[in-house]
Parts: sequence; structure tokens; C-alpha cells
Amino acid sequence: MELELRVKEAIKLAKENLKNAGIKNMQDAEFILANILNTDTAGLNSIEFMSKKEAKRFVKDIKARCKHCPLDKIIGYTDFLSIRIPFDKNTLSPRQETEILTEKIIKDIKGKKLTVLDLCSGSGCIGIAIAKATPVSVTLSDISKKANKIAKKNAELNGVEVAILTSDLFDNIPTKFDIIVSNPPYIKRRDLEVLEIEVRDFDPRLALDGGDDGLDFYRDIIAKAPEYLNNGGKLYLEIGIEQSKDVVKLLNKDFEDIVVEKDYNGIDRYIIAKKRDKNAK
Ligand code: GLN
Repeated sequence: MELELRVKEAIKLAKENLKNAGIKNMQDAEFILANILNTDTAGLNSIEFMSKKEAKRFVKDIKARCKHCPLDKIIGYTDFLSIRIPFDKNTLSPRQETEILTEKIIKDIKGKKLTVLDLCSGSGCIGIAIAKATPVSVTLSDISKKANKIAKKNAELNGVEVAILTSDLFDNIPTKFDIIVSNPPYIKRRDLEVLEIEVRDFDPRLALDGGDDGLDFYRDIIAKAPEYLNNGGKLYLEIGIEQSKDVVKLLNKDFEDIVVEKDYNGIDRYIIAKKRDKNAK
């Protein structure tokens, strides 16, 4: 891509380059340039020219994106609802799909003072965004100490207090909660190699690998969650493509009011279920 100082023209050129490189999300050009020019994408409309130095950086960043380097690694962060999560190679980069799940929970909480466990919390994006938007008390838990260190930093950066536990799923969880949320690893092991480059080469394996059929974590979480949910407690899960039937089957034993919801691509992506009250007739 050649050097272009006119903002509109440079964006046009960058989009052509991204398209030729097979990058679907061409809006990335605007995000990258907005980051360089210290503005947001709407702010680009009022800037006509950039400096040579800025244009050089734009070319460099667009070239990196054309080589499938993820956007959050180039600009250094992902905005996730009302929080900002810096890129880190040890945690899964927050996804837009997960924003929707988190929004649903925030809406359901409706200002109530509940307790929430974010299981397999990684960067902490789900729990931290919930803690930012509601009066609940949030516990993050992940098997990875490295991830927990990052989650702690992310919580501080976003000005929220959360408890953080290192635990292999429920192994080290001492109490019950009103809500358990999890976006666990759910990719089938044999599919890991054919993931898009941005995911395959930049997200940690540990955050992706869901075992042979991709369902390992759901089996364990669903089997143990009732023990860690208060009466009437709810489990919120993000799931992978074509996993809803299997996960609902697993839930049928101890959960009721099971709802499957779609993401913005029309794919079954979220399951919400209430712990069944064993004493009810
Ligand atoms: N809970 C984190 C997220 O949703 C991490 C998920 C994971 O590592 N599988 O981004």
C-alpha cells in the first residue's frame, strides 16, 4: 500500500488492500486509523489530512492486518461494552458474541445485589463488564494463573473490584452463587488447525480446546453447577456452532426454563437455564 496523506483516500486504499488479502471486516481500516489519529471512527470524518509519520504507521498496521494479525493486537485493546481489555497473548481476545451474552446478564440482574461467578474467566471481560454495570459481587475463576494475573490488571484498569480464584472449573470454588456464567473453550480438537489464522495463531490453545467433541467443559460445568448455584440460580453459557442440542440434553437433568438464543448471525450461541428446585412437585 502506498503512502497517502488524505484521510478519506487512505481509508479507501486500505480497504482495497484488506479486501485483496481476504480480510472480511473492512471497517478495521477505520479502527486502525482512528487509533493512530487518537480519535474514534466517527471522528475521522472531521480530519482531512494526516502527517507523513501517521501515514507510514497506517501503512505498516494495514500490512500487518493483511497478514491476518488480529485487530486488537494492532491497536492494543478491545472495547467490550463499557470496559477496555488490552490485548494479551495469554488470554482469549474478547468477542462481540460474548458482549451480547454479558448484556443479557446485566439486563437480567436489573440492579439486584446478586453474586456472580464467571467461570473460565480468561481476560475477565464478562465478569468485569458485569461488575462495572451492576451492584453485584463478582468472582472470576480460571485454571490459568497467567490469565488471572491479566484479569486482575484488567479489573484495576477498569476500576472495579472482583474476587479472583485459580481453579480447575469448580475444584477450588468455596461458595454458591446466584448466577454462574461461562464462555468455556468449545472448539473440537480436530478443528483447531482449520480455524481462521487470527484465532489459530493468536488466541491461546488452552482457551479454545474443548476436547474431542468440543463438549468437555459443558459436561463438567453442567454436572457440577447445581451444587454451586443458590436456589433459583441461573446458568448462562456461550456455546459453539451446532452444540445447542447436545448442551440442552445435558441441562435437562438438573435445569429447567432452558432458553437457547441466537447471535447476530442467527446461530444458536447462548443457553440460559435455571437450576431445578428439587423439592418442587
Ligand atoms: N471468559 C473469557 C471470554 O469470554 C475467556 C473465555 C475462554 O478463554 N474460553 O472471553
